[in-house]
Amino acid sequence: MKTLVQGGYVVGFNGKEHEIIKDGVVVFENDRILFVGKQYSEPVDKKIDAKGCLVSPGFIDTHFHSGINASDYLLNEPGKLDYFAANYLAHGAPTREGAKHAHLKDVDVGQRFSLIHLLKSAVTTTFEIGGPGNNPEAYVDMVDQVGIRCYTGPSYKNVNFYHDREGRLEYDWDDERGSEGLKRAIAFAKKFNGACKGRIGTMLFPGHVDSCTPDLLKETRKAGKELGARVQVHATINLFEFHTVMRRDRCTPIELLHKIGFLDPQVSLSHCIFISGHSWLAYPYGDDLKIIADSGASVAHSPLKYLKLGITMESFDRYLKAGINMGIGTDTFPKDIISDMRYAALCSRVAEKSFVAGRPRDAFNAATLGGAKMAGREDLGRLQKGAKADISIVNLKDIAFGAVRDPIKSLVETAVSRDVRTVIVDGEILVDNGKYLRLNEDELLDKVQAKGEEVWASVPKWHWTGKSVDEVMPPAFKMS
Ligand SMILES: [Zn+2]
Repeated sequence: MKTLVQGGYVVGFNGKEHEIIKDGVVVFENDRILFVGKQYSEPVDKKIDAKGCLVSPGFIDTHFHSGINASDYLLNEPGKLDYFAANYLAHGAPTREGAKHAHLKDVDVGQRFSLIHLLKSAVTTTFEIGGPGNNPEAYVDMVDQVGIRCYTGPSYKNVNFYHDREGRLEYDWDDERGSEGLKRAIAFAKKFNGACKGRIGTMLFPGHVDSCTPDLLKETRKAGKELGARVQVHATINLFEFHTVMRRDRCTPIELLHKIGFLDPQVSLSHCIFISGHSWLAYPYGDDLKIIADSGASVAHSPLKYLKLGITMESFDRYLKAGINMGIGTDTFPKDIISDMRYAALCSRVAEKSFVAGRPRDAFNAATLGGAKMAGREDLGRLQKGAKADISIVNLKDIAFGAVRDPIKSLVETAVSRDVRTVIVDGEILVDNGKYLRLNEDELLDKVQAKGEEVWASVPKWHWTGKSVDEVMPPAFKMS
């Protein structure tokens, strides 16, 4: 079946970079793009009218955790009192006895909901860190039903984090836990790489530089090379991690990764905020940026998560100028990658103290070509003959956009996920006219609300204070 999309502004790819084709067309047949250009005169089976829209390669989210958004209320509480910009540790660590009640993950509601949320924000490929968890078969089935393209694998680490009853954080180390986790991740990679008609690609996800032993990280690299699987690790994500590694290994987390031979072009680093020279570190020694650039490793930048914590990367432009391949991740909630492009650009201007920094083209490249490079794919993140038919159509004809001269600037400066009209993965239309086609969104949202109430009701069972969610994290105004 042959389908023609009539733009609009079509973002074509000329073999080197994106270029905009005004009133352009894209033709795809089954899962591949057949033609991108000004006019197509051969017969087609179906036409999609995208006049007034941007016809873009589907975006690639390079750092995503699936699940209901209820826990984001808990993780990003500004009233918290804890470890220097503690980030995921803020309210994430349960007591030992409460661990079984914390972060209720479920495939059918929470994980499904967040993948649909991503699709509706024009993401066609995601890097899903730790998605399969303890229930890999059900997870893979769900991804198959949702229709998104997904690089995934269970994550693993040596440490479990707990709070004691006084609110002190404990690192519970276990060598066995890490190696068993790696074994499960290798088994998943062997069994599921290429599942869902090729839409699942498997990766290895060791937890964090401070939650894995150097040996587990080395074993991960070795396994990745044997499997031909890419690797992503959370690195320099909070000050706590930076100081833990400095104290334990007498070097920065990036220097440690370099020293153990972990960094190379198959590896991406999640977040990578606190590198030497960052203004929050007061650590002007060494050159972490150069180490990363020289290694060829990529960085998955999730700006919103850090904005919530009052932190910015220093800076997106500086990393790019150093020669690092950059991707965009959503990580927290909302998972709106278009807004994250905007945050990446604006944060870069703030960090550089320059209004010529944070160019929309750089943010757009990161969300397309940067992510594709991270995945090792030359058929994603671009609209070109032979590439995968992963296409997102965003409406730009709206009062919010006014007059449009440069559609990429309009997208990055103004658009949000609710402007996304159509999303196509592997030639399948999954979102049409702003609606996800494979299930009833209202019914899903009722289930999501019920699951959220369950998560919030569970707080006294795992939080070290034993208090209710409203006592631990009061709402903005009193509610009755
Ligand atoms: Zn993460």
